[in-house]
Amino acid sequence: MNVYDSEQIAKVLTPLGYEISPTIEAADLIMVNTCAIREKAEQKAFSFLGRLTALKRRKPGLIICVGGCVAQQEGRMIIERVPQVDLVFGTQAINRLPEHIRNISLKRCRITDVEMTREIMEFPSGIKPVVDDNITRFVTIMRGCDNYCTYCVVPHVRGPEISRRPENIINEIRELVEAGVKEVTLLGQNVNSYGMKEGLCSFPELLKLVNEIEGLSRIRFTTSHPKDLSEELISAFAGIEKLCSHIHLPVQSGSDTILKRMNRKYTRELYLEKIERLRKISPDIAITSDIIVGFPGETEDDFRATLDLVKEVEFDSLFTFGYSDRKNAPAARFSEKVPDDKKNERLQELLELQEYYTVKKNRALVGSTEPILVEGFSKKQGTEDGQERFAGIRWTGRTSTNKIVNFIDAKTPTDDDNLMGNRIDVMIEKAFSHSLWGRPVNVKPMPLRVKGEESYAA
Ligand code: SAM
Ligand code: SF4
Repeated sequence: MNVYDSEQIAKVLTPLGYEISPTIEAADLIMVNTCAIREKAEQKAFSFLGRLTALKRRKPGLIICVGGCVAQQEGRMIIERVPQVDLVFGTQAINRLPEHIRNISLKRCRITDVEMTREIMEFPSGIKPVVDDNITRFVTIMRGCDNYCTYCVVPHVRGPEISRRPENIINEIRELVEAGVKEVTLLGQNVNSYGMKEGLCSFPELLKLVNEIEGLSRIRFTTSHPKDLSEELISAFAGIEKLCSHIHLPVQSGSDTILKRMNRKYTRELYLEKIERLRKISPDIAITSDIIVGFPGETEDDFRATLDLVKEVEFDSLFTFGYSDRKNAPAARFSEKVPDDKKNERLQELLELQEYYTVKKNRALVGSTEPILVEGFSKKQGTEDGQERFAGIRWTGRTSTNKIVNFIDAKTPTDDDNLMGNRIDVMIEKAFSHSLWGRPVNVKPMPLRVKGEESYAA
């Protein structure tokens, strides 16, 4: 969500003449977009702001702005505690940025804007996307959250759930597609409840509308809350052609006692039933999840229940988090806190178990041919995952199941055979823990539909 918000920040500042600076030293304005989900992220934001002191001293005209969830949470305290900061803006103030920046430039004043409204933020259309070399982009379809999981700061810093109108979402995606984007990830804290409060269309209906956008190859979404994952959405994996075969379904814990204390409103059994339904509709679907270890009161038995669930589901991959107390989140006041060394020990055990399943799932793909959306050049040119030197360009892309695939195309790309943004079939030859290695099959150029330009697909 912060990646998306950062792009919108850059976009609203374009009419003021700002553009992305190649280095931080060359910048006239620095935007620090913060995350408050865990204490570590918040500390990082403050230590980064501390490092900007010297820069501001050398360049007094520099404007430093702090946005995002930490800004929303701490408000004026940041202005008081960090003298080099000119503007603190909350999660719902992005569209008011141009006005604030103009005032700061003219009057050299310092501003805090953390006002929360019940209206959805919309941004002007028709401004060229600022980051224009991406094949895949995020698109926020709703903001805020009404679920109040007891560990989570999001409802407190992003406000109540509000959905964007479908026509605004569709227009935004159309503009991205015209700029060359091929894949979008629709974002919301709980996409299942999209449009319900406002009486808009349902999320599966929105997916159908996005599916009709010409020139778009793939659709992903995140996040779906297990309690609300509907039969209609499960069926979408079989019926919506461009929807990728991957769902991120955060379980958080395998213990019913802990799920109850987290206020997640589903049981382990219900979660497993949904997994079964998904796999029945779409047998090859990749399933990933989030797990928090060391939630207050988590016993050894609760943790074992989580490990058992991981063994039963066999996730494709996991995001694992050590529980972190957050200001305003009720769990911060819960007793029976799990000591840090115990938390780290459990995290390590969970990671090792998941590594086994991630590798197992990747190995199962060796020998198959997967359609890959090529996203760009791989950072590691010239080698096959550090083993052999290879002539040709090393490309990177992802399978529909969201697995990274690297491969070599022996040709040096010219404008005519640049594979970026194309869907090509790749035969998987090797599996590693975080990526796959493959060989393109039957690569032959053919024109692809991209408005205003010609590129080539295999
Ligand atoms: N809305 C999503 C959902 O309900 O699954 C989650 C969004 S949250 C931004 C991303 C993840 O951060 C959560 O799924 C959870 O695992 C983790 N998280 C949130 N608060 C946390 C906390 N206080 N300590 C540790 N992890 C946390
Ligand atoms: Fe946080 Fe729960 Fe909302 Fe997800 S659903 S953002 S974890 S409160």
